Amino acid sequence: MRARGKIGAGEKTTDVIAAGGRIEEIHPAGLSQACDLGGEGFRIAPGLVDIQINGYDGVDFNDADTDTEQIVAATRQLWRTGVTAFCPTIITGSFDHIAKCISNLVRAADESPEFARAMIGIHVEGPFISTEDGPRGAHPKQHARPPDWNEFQKWQGAARGQIRIITLSPEWPGAIDFIERAAAAGVIVAIGHTAATPAQIADAARAGARLSTHLGNGSHAKIDRHPNYIWEQLANDDLWASFIVDGHHLPPSVVKCFLRSKGVARGILVSDAIAAAGKPAGRYKLGNVEVEVTPARRVCLPGTPYLAGSVLEMHEAVAKTVQYSDATLDDALLMASHNPAKLLGVAGQFGSIEAGRRADLILFRWDDENSALDVAATVVNGETVFAAI
Ligand SMILES: [Zn+2]
Repeated sequence: MRARGKIGAGEKTTDVIAAGGRIEEIHPAGLSQACDLGGEGFRIAPGLVDIQINGYDGVDFNDADTDTEQIVAATRQLWRTGVTAFCPTIITGSFDHIAKCISNLVRAADESPEFARAMIGIHVEGPFISTEDGPRGAHPKQHARPPDWNEFQKWQGAARGQIRIITLSPEWPGAIDFIERAAAAGVIVAIGHTAATPAQIADAARAGARLSTHLGNGSHAKIDRHPNYIWEQLANDDLWASFIVDGHHLPPSVVKCFLRSKGVARGILVSDAIAAAGKPAGRYKLGNVEVEVTPARRVCLPGTPYLAGSVLEMHEAVAKTVQYSDATLDDALLMASHNPAKLLGVAGQFGSIEAGRRADLILFRWDDENSALDVAATVVNGETVFAAI
């Protein structure tokens, strides 16, 4: 397969040639040779990687009854948004509920090569998070609880070792011990949904926590101006940070400041999308919690100011990041592909256009004036799986 376009925001039209599912060659476009995809006016980027996604297009990874067919359907719909690899995310619930949702994902990976290729690990967000209103976000209060290593190990057993990220709050006694064990086991510990003190944040990072989950969200509506858990995480160079750039979770000025202080090298864009993403406004379920999607595409707990996930798509997250901050298109694409792959330790396979990497690509049109990214085609493993050209 020969895909043709400018790589990222670059100016030279380039051919990316794939064979056997891998990128074989990258060189200036050979005008005498026809291409299979793209051409002048198209840009090429690595397939987008989303490390926090709760569901998509009516499919909820947090519903214990979700089956393989639905999980595969969501995977295919995500190709339209440029996402070729992701971490399905299971939020706070009972032990059995989380175990069941994890088992559904593992079974789907066994039964579907398409989903097995897309799932680069499971993200368990909770249940070891703050019980406080605000930090807890939309997670059910009755299931928020202190870290329990035995419980986690049982989930990891059910996941056959595929839990790659756990988001927790270091405010709990015992959190530091849990973080040390998880880090030693190769699991990425993320700080999120937290009411922790700055000292507890610093201790967590020293114990091996590596990421701040959707920094600036899952927090109190009002906090001390300083010190607080947001400044502490922003200033800690051992912590990467993920951001939900949908225009609702963080104001543009905050996106700009956060990215400047954390730096593009440690920034990661996530969708935190729920099943309602890809669907019209209305009432939907996030696990057992009812949420409302407004016509402005804000997702909240009905009757409260609290956000409950998003209906953001990753290509929009890239475009909005360029619009709101001084990140370039290349920077934003990096934070939506290479960076998450690097954090997960899979950058040798995913998230960049280099010979030998898996041929997961998107072709897109970029409207610089309006900061809009239109996915024209998606290639997975060297095969065109979505094309709107
Ligand atoms: Zn969250």
